[in-house]
Amino acid sequence: MVTASVPEQKAKVGPTQLLINNEWVNSVSGKRFETINPSTGEVICDIAEADAADVDLAVAAARKAFNSGDWRQMSATKRGDLLYKLADLIEQNIEELARLETLDNGKPLNDSLNADLPLVIACYRYYAGWADKIQGKTIPINGPYFCYTRHEPVGVVGQIIPWNFPLLMQAWKLGPALAAGNTVVLKTAEQTPLSALRVGELILEAGFPPGVVNILSGYGPTAGAAISHHMGIDKVAFTGSTEVGHLIMEAAAKSNLKRVTLELGGKSPNIVFADADMDQALDGSHDALFFNQGQCCCAGSRLFVEEKCYDEFVAKSIERAQNRIVGDPFNEQTQQGPQVDQEQFNRVMGYIESGVREGAQMLCGGSQVGDRGYFIKPTVFVDVKDEMKIAQEEIFGPVMSIIKFKDIDEVIERANATMYGLAAAVWTKDIGKAHAIANSVRAGTVWVNCFDVFDAAAPFGGFKQSGIGRELGEYGLQQYTEVKTVTVKL
Ligand code: NAP
Ligand code: MG
Repeated sequence: MVTASVPEQKAKVGPTQLLINNEWVNSVSGKRFETINPSTGEVICDIAEADAADVDLAVAAARKAFNSGDWRQMSATKRGDLLYKLADLIEQNIEELARLETLDNGKPLNDSLNADLPLVIACYRYYAGWADKIQGKTIPINGPYFCYTRHEPVGVVGQIIPWNFPLLMQAWKLGPALAAGNTVVLKTAEQTPLSALRVGELILEAGFPPGVVNILSGYGPTAGAAISHHMGIDKVAFTGSTEVGHLIMEAAAKSNLKRVTLELGGKSPNIVFADADMDQALDGSHDALFFNQGQCCCAGSRLFVEEKCYDEFVAKSIERAQNRIVGDPFNEQTQQGPQVDQEQFNRVMGYIESGVREGAQMLCGGSQVGDRGYFIKPTVFVDVKDEMKIAQEEIFGPVMSIIKFKDIDEVIERANATMYGLAAAVWTKDIGKAHAIANSVRAGTVWVNCFDVFDAAAPFGGFKQSGIGRELGEYGLQQYTEVKTVTVKL
């Protein structure tokens, strides 16, 4: 681990109120909460705090916008144009948005600028292109009838997003919802409200009609729960922990059976065979785990390495972890910033303690970096057993667990022995092994000789308790439409 530091650089903070019906407003209660810079633990600013009363106002605005023709019946091409305009505005402000993301979330500016923001822009453009290509079918039913389907928007959509990729999760949610003609009430994560609000300003500049996009900052158990229980919301899309995913479904079941899509946690197997290109597998597995401070739902957090190459792989993985540059996320050299907040820092440190307690061998890391902010040394555990907590639960931090395996049948069985099914990867030069893994691992995404390859066109989502439904691509768009059958007597 190498430490980088430069004099602190600031980002420009944008709006700090709620966006309801195209107006910036304070919360009904007048309450505000603080957002923290995770690099220092200092307060950046305070933000209007939404709860149930504000959700009511936002839903009313979204309902009015949905029911009026202004949005739903706007020409589909024009809806697409607005999304293209938004993408252009984000591109014109890319540096400012990347800095704001880094300030509030702690991710290296290099990543915000070169990974998050380009994916954000591509996502809005991708769905802008879909707006006028959402079409039904004509169906040859029996009798003198003309039968066709329309793919209509679901209605008012509640969207609840996490803090690990704030701008990107906003894009994954708004892009398909708006392309299909829905109106939206979006709640950001309490830790990272700032960048979404700045995008709200750009949404106004682009010229979206009032009430189409409403953005609320606030807490899960108040504002988030108000969304998931709301009788006026037709669908809720959630990204976050599996635990809260259960609560969202329960709320939907107890209220109005709103449609639910969930993008939840993972414990993704990353399988390295001895016949792999070793450098590629080492670099790929390092990034698969440590990217974004380990705060990825699809992180390759169960690293299965074939016995034949285990010792070499372990030695070289430790070398890579020790050379990872941790420090000020505004420094160009930095590869790893702080965890998002004190709570996540404590959680990750708790998992590290449990790994040691349960007898895994910690070969590097395991402690805080510096004495302020929430930085954790890249940590590698070896001799990890399947039943240990660090091999079972989502750590969401820079903690690699290397697990030994002997053969392919065994590793498939062990890879699937989890309640999660978000992603998986395999590293091998043997095409037969690659396809065997791709076909047998129960996960929504399988990467072969690569990891974290994301594209707005490629669907992403979970099997099992990693989620319901898909985001991105045409499959993601389908989750934002209802199919209507129209039958006309001829
Ligand atoms: P979380 O609690 O699931 O938060 C995700 C979002 O849900 C936030 O906007 C949160 O609001 C909201 N929320 C929380 N409780 C809610 C409720 N009862 N009803 C409606 N919405 C609610 O995740 P977290 O606590 O930030 O992180 C804990 C763990 O979740 C992580 O360690 C990781 O395992 C997992 N996680 C997964 C992802 C992912 O991409 N799949 C992302 C983040 C976290 P607040 O603003 O109050 O947090
Ligand atoms: Mg913050």
